[in-house]
Amino acid sequence: MSKEFFGALMRLLSNPWQPVALAGPQPCPYCRFTGGSAQLRFEDVEISVGVNNLFVPARDEAVVYIAPSLIAHYIDAHDYCPPAVFQEAVLDCPEMRSFAYLKRIKENGLAVMRPAG
Ligand SMILES: [Zn+2]
Repeated sequence: MSKEFFGALMRLLSNPWQPVALAGPQPCPYCRFTGGSAQLRFEDVEISVGVNNLFVPARDEAVVYIAPSLIAHYIDAHDYCPPAVFQEAVLDCPEMRSFAYLKRIKENGLAVMRPAG
């Protein structure tokens, strides 16, 4: 896995767009005693981990990958290597919250679900 990929992942995670906010902070289940750090820093980017989810649209197919922000910690601390298709999507992802990003999210079929009432 390249530093370029990890840097791109960290940039996307620094201010991730997400259609819904889910439950509160999630500790790392693999850090035996501490639950891992809630902050992660790489080069000039610092992110919070354990709260947000990352939505990454694929380029060539109607897929939106969803990963917990803990993915950066899993990669950094626990030797996790995400699938190549996810790494390619991250490297190819338009700037977070840009028009191009939101357009690709919509084109790939992610719809915001509203509770039936
Ligand atoms: Zn951990």
